[in-house]
Amino acid sequence: MPGSILLRMFGGAKDTSSDDASGQASDSARPEASAGASALLMDSISEFLLGQNLAVTAANLTMAHAIFTGEDSTLARKLLERKAASLPITQDWLDQNRAVDGIEKRVKRIVGKLESSLETFAQTTRNAHDAAESYTTRIAEHASGIAGEKDPAATEQSLQDVLREIISQGSAFAAAMKQSQAETQSLRAELEKARHDADVDHLTGLPNRRAFETLLERQFREARANLEHLCVAFCDIDHFKRVNDTHGHDTGDRVIRAIGEALSRITDDNCHVARQGGEEFVMLFRGKTLQEAFDKLDAVRENFGERHFVNRSNEEPIGRITFSGGLADVFGYPNPRDALKAADEALYRAKQGGRNRIEMA
Ligand code: GH3
Ligand code: MG
Ligand code: MG
Repeated sequence: MPGSILLRMFGGAKDTSSDDASGQASDSARPEASAGASALLMDSISEFLLGQNLAVTAANLTMAHAIFTGEDSTLARKLLERKAASLPITQDWLDQNRAVDGIEKRVKRIVGKLESSLETFAQTTRNAHDAAESYTTRIAEHASGIAGEKDPAATEQSLQDVLREIISQGSAFAAAMKQSQAETQSLRAELEKARHDADVDHLTGLPNRRAFETLLERQFREARANLEHLCVAFCDIDHFKRVNDTHGHDTGDRVIRAIGEALSRITDDNCHVARQGGEEFVMLFRGKTLQEAFDKLDAVRENFGERHFVNRSNEEPIGRITFSGGLADVFGYPNPRDALKAADEALYRAKQGGRNRIEMA
């Protein structure tokens, strides 16, 4: 089980090794054993969060709990793989995996419902088909009865019975079909919503990195075909860790939302912003030269840096918050991926150069 391996890996399980050595069988029914297990779980969760420098938020606690109890074995396994590759477990990485996981589970559930709805629909159709065949046979029998001049009154009565059956069964089938149709419609709406959620960042309501990648591909193709300019930019909040450390994670979240709002104010059909992850945003400017895109983005930076933020929970001043940016002309590079890399390097230079500035690649 990945959960138990992780318990050992993050240190919490070392405390139990002496219990195991004493040969006492583990028995969760014993109060001291279950208290020991709880303490171990608590230790592992706190060691994990503190060890990876992760904020102690309700979401992180819930997620760590699911990992160490084995409730979320998929995430536990991914965590093990990441550890094995010596890659850091960051907030970004967790948020991304949690979001993707949630969406995957939802889609799986919808697909399951859709399958059973289709099965019901197919059964209804089969029943209707069988009934229609049986009516045809019975009516044909009556027809030959009439031709053979059997008792006409009895034949008529029996025909009436068949007709009554056809009418009542027919409306039952119609109702079943209608219900199937309604179910399919509501499942389609659910699927549409899941598809939408898979593209949206839950904190800011902006498109997420995944959606941006799709958008960039399309804009790149169109801009290339129409010989239009296309620029990409990365923006990253300056010294954001300090905001979190001094004013708390919730205030940090509000700052992320505020930057997202400020950047989205300049967006339109040719200018898009997405949350890349954490305190980082990615932008796309179509039909603008590098200088024009710079001017637009720099104006947002300047305006934003003039605002004074206040911690809503205690009215303490947070002061000014700034961000840095790196901008690149997509067609100056072999492909959009390289242009993004160049924008990221320009952002790095903006940070090195003192922050609160936009650098062009
Ligand atoms: P720099 O100016 O060099 O960018 O410094 P920084 O402090 O902004 O950068 P650093 O990468 O050291 O810290 C980013 C922090 O952002 C660390 C991480 O905990 C925090 N963070 C990432 N995602 C979120 C989030 O969704 N909400 C909040 N509140 N904090 C987040
Ligand atoms: Mg960053
Ligand atoms: Mg930063």
